[in-house]
Formats: sequence, C-alpha cells, structure tokens
Amino acid sequence: LVRLRSRLSRSQSSLGQGLLSLLSREHLDDATWEEIEDTLLTADVGVAPTQELVERLRERVRVLGTRTPEDLRGLLRAELLTLVGPDLDRTVHTETRGAVDRPGVVLVVGVNGTGKTTTTGKLGRVLVADGRSVVLGAADTFRAAAADQLQTWGKRVGARTVRGPEGGDPASVAFDAVKEGTDAGADVVLIDTAGRLHTKTGLMDELGKVKRVVEKQGPVDEVLLVLDATTGQNGLVQARVFAEVVDITGIVLTKLDGTAKGGIVVAVQRELGVPVKLVGLGEGADDLAPFEPEAFVDALIG
Ligand code: GDP
Repeated sequence: LVRLRSRLSRSQSSLGQGLLSLLSREHLDDATWEEIEDTLLTADVGVAPTQELVERLRERVRVLGTRTPEDLRGLLRAELLTLVGPDLDRTVHTETRGAVDRPGVVLVVGVNGTGKTTTTGKLGRVLVADGRSVVLGAADTFRAAAADQLQTWGKRVGARTVRGPEGGDPASVAFDAVKEGTDAGADVVLIDTAGRLHTKTGLMDELGKVKRVVEKQGPVDEVLLVLDATTGQNGLVQARVFAEVVDITGIVLTKLDGTAKGGIVVAVQRELGVPVKLVGLGEGADDLAPFEPEAFVDALIG
C-alpha cells in the first residue's frame, strides 16, 4: 500500500494539487469551475465522470460555505474515492473455480506493446513468491520474440513456460499449457495471448478459440485486459474491441509510472464496467501492484 502511494505520488499528484489550488480560490466562479473541469479532462478522467464530479463538488462546496484547506482536501478525497470505486471487488481470481481438477487459469489479453508479456511475468513472480507453482503459456505464436521474452520471464521467476512452433495455433499452445499445468499438479496457468488488432473478426476468431479450447478443460478463472495508461482515449477504443470479443473480468493498467494522467483508471472502469485490479509501475519484476483505491487517491492528492 505504501509502495503504491510512494511510487505514484511523483507523477500523479499534479492532478490533486491542481484541483485543490483551484478549489481554494476565493471566488469560485463559472470560469474556475470550467478550469476544474479542464483539469480533470486533461487527466483522462473522461467526460461523463468529470461532469458528475464537478456537479457534486459544486454542491458540496456550496453546502460547506467557508472552506478551510483541510475541508477541501477531505471533500476532494471523498469525491475522488467515490469516483474510483472503493468497494469494487478487485480480487485476481487465480484459484480454480468449481470442482474441476486442474489449475486456476488466467488469460492475459490486450494490444501488443501494452505490456502483456511483462505483466504475465510479473504476475507469475507474485504468485511464485506466494508459494504457488505456476506454468506460463506463450500463446502469442505470431512473434517468436514474444515466446522468448515470456520464457525469459519464466526462468527469472521460477515458472515453466509452454510454447509452440512459431506461427502455430495459439489455441493449441493454450490447451497444452493447461494440460501440462494439470499433469504437473501446478496451481496456476497464466496464458499470454496475441494482441494483433488486424481485424475484429480475426481477433475474435483467435481469442475466442483460445478461450473455448481452454474451457473444454474447465472454466477460465480470470481474463485480464492489459491497457497502457499512457495511450489515454486511444487505449480505451482498443479496450472496447477486446471487451466485445471476450468477457473481461479485470483490468491491468500498465505504465502508470510514466504518466500523470491517472484519471484513466476512472474512465476505463466506466467504459468497460470492470475494475482495475492491478497496476504496472515500471519494467522490473517487482513493479506490479494491486490497485488500492485509497492509496491511489492519496497519491493523487499528494
Ligand atoms: P506486449 O507486447 O503487450 O507483450 O508488451 P511487453 O510486455 O513486451 O511490454 C512492452 C514494453 O513496455 C516493454 O519495454 C516493457 O518493459 C514495457 N512495460 C511493460 N509494463 C510496464 C510498466 O508498468 N511501466 C513501464 N514503464 N514500462 C512497462
């Protein structure tokens, strides 16, 4: 918790600081409220959530009357927290659901370059550190480099990697990874998928098949969509395509260390109706953290 906050505060706190200084102005006129709105939009909060927040802030400030810095801080904190969703279930399901005798299965999906493979490796690391045995499935068979990269992660974190021939069938690699995990009595299988956004039908065929094939052996326990926080609204458009193709159960927001636009957390949750469960805070093996709404909002306020 402390780490998430300290790692985020430098890049993120400009949003909260900017809002606090605007709210502290002696006269909160329409122009100032517009500036507040612009500040939120610039941080990628999205249009509808921004309008809701500004409306609530206006009302709360009006009711409050005089405003001490502490009042404003508390008020902003509470409203941002509401927006981020303090009560959403952010559990990453890695345990097998149901009575099937096989490992928990997590599919990791998203556009190439967002940090899928890195996230798969980091998540493997977290699980292994937690005493679970992990198998990685390199179902991105279109780029040999992707399977190599995953295998390197596997060695690094102490997880076996299952891969297929270059250009082979992603679904068959996914199937083999789950089978190998089952035979070896592993706890969790993490499957890294291809994210070529060539055509929606192509993607749908590919990902849909991976999921169907895995489901022959039991339910998929978690489908994590990896989204690059630095791509803002473009990332959201891509995310929507993936959400139409597979049922996403959680979002991993990567590269949050490289942007001050933390508002994307709010926007993407709204857009997909799915909680942000994990955040990427760097390229290193330990740079994956559970998303903690309170720590996140504290980092925003600085
Ligand atoms: P994939 O194509 O989606 O599998 O993406 P990769 O896992 O290969 O990641 C693409 C690049 O983003 C690599 O250089 C990663 O090191 C980098 N990356 C991934 N996650 C993060 C993160 O949370 N923060 C930063 N700064 N870089 C990241």
